[in-house]
Amino acid sequence: MPAALATLRKTISIAPGLSLGGDHFVVMAGPCAVETRELLLTAAEAVAAAGAVVLRGGAFKPRTSPKSFQGLGEAGLHLLSEAAARTGLPVVTEVLDPRDVDLVARHAAILQVGSRNMQNFPLLREVGRQRKPVLLKRGAAATLDELIAAADYILQEGNPDVILCERGVRGFDGSTRYLLDLAAVPVLQRRTHLPVIVDPSHGTGDAALVPAMAKAAVAAGADGLLLEVHAAPELALCDGMQALRPAEFAQLMQELRRLVPLCGRRWSRSDKSPADKLPATTPQTSASASQRPGPAIGTFDDEVIAP
Ligand code: PEP
Ligand code: MN
Repeated sequence: MPAALATLRKTISIAPGLSLGGDHFVVMAGPCAVETRELLLTAAEAVAAAGAVVLRGGAFKPRTSPKSFQGLGEAGLHLLSEAAARTGLPVVTEVLDPRDVDLVARHAAILQVGSRNMQNFPLLREVGRQRKPVLLKRGAAATLDELIAAADYILQEGNPDVILCERGVRGFDGSTRYLLDLAAVPVLQRRTHLPVIVDPSHGTGDAALVPAMAKAAVAAGADGLLLEVHAAPELALCDGMQALRPAEFAQLMQELRRLVPLCGRRWSRSDKSPADKLPATTPQTSASASQRPGPAIGTFDDEVIAP
């Protein structure tokens, strides 16, 4: 990427009146997976009320073991569309299989290519041939050059709207699930014109650490955040340990409300800004995620299923 191009920051239109990139900051939030209608709608309404502007949730889940919950598939997509209609939030959801791209694109405003598929070249080509923006997550052992090259597969097929996502890489220390590489944000912004968001949920695997790393990501210059929020994390079929409760998410949004403009970004949709949704100051309540006990060291595993 020539240096001059890297300075032309790209703005991606996600939905009418909602852009990401340039100086538009976006928070995408919701459960790891769509599990039940009630849990999804509860989470969707909570994240919308707190100021998220995109709803996340996996219908097709890439699980390490075939014995783990695989997601609801197409039924999950219909639930996401119902939640989108109720809340007005566009949806980001993962597509695992090139054959499902059209199906997923009928329900999603943004197609997610997960870290396990960052170098699934047929999938990259297929999402490059459709018109919805693509959220491309960094592979857990991928270099930034490899991430940029993967994005290039999508761009080359004619889809210019790629959002890069740092979600942590494999480290040597089991204190966190992955090692969240926040330097990736300015490095990617130096090397590409594409917006860069951060996922501190997978990046830490620990809800207690998510608020601090979310704020650090904003300070590092991220164009947005992808956050897991669950109505009842103890019931989650996957990634419950890293999911914020709705009150914890609202507390974080309240803190981000002040931080985002200080870091040179503005809230992407003023009608959905947490500034409009919440009072200027929120009393410190038990909503602080940092008070939650973390997972025991060595237990980070996306196969852990809540009892
Ligand atoms: C996810 O966002 O639900 C997910 C599976 O993330 P990753 O691909 O980064 O593991
Ligand atoms: Mn997850």
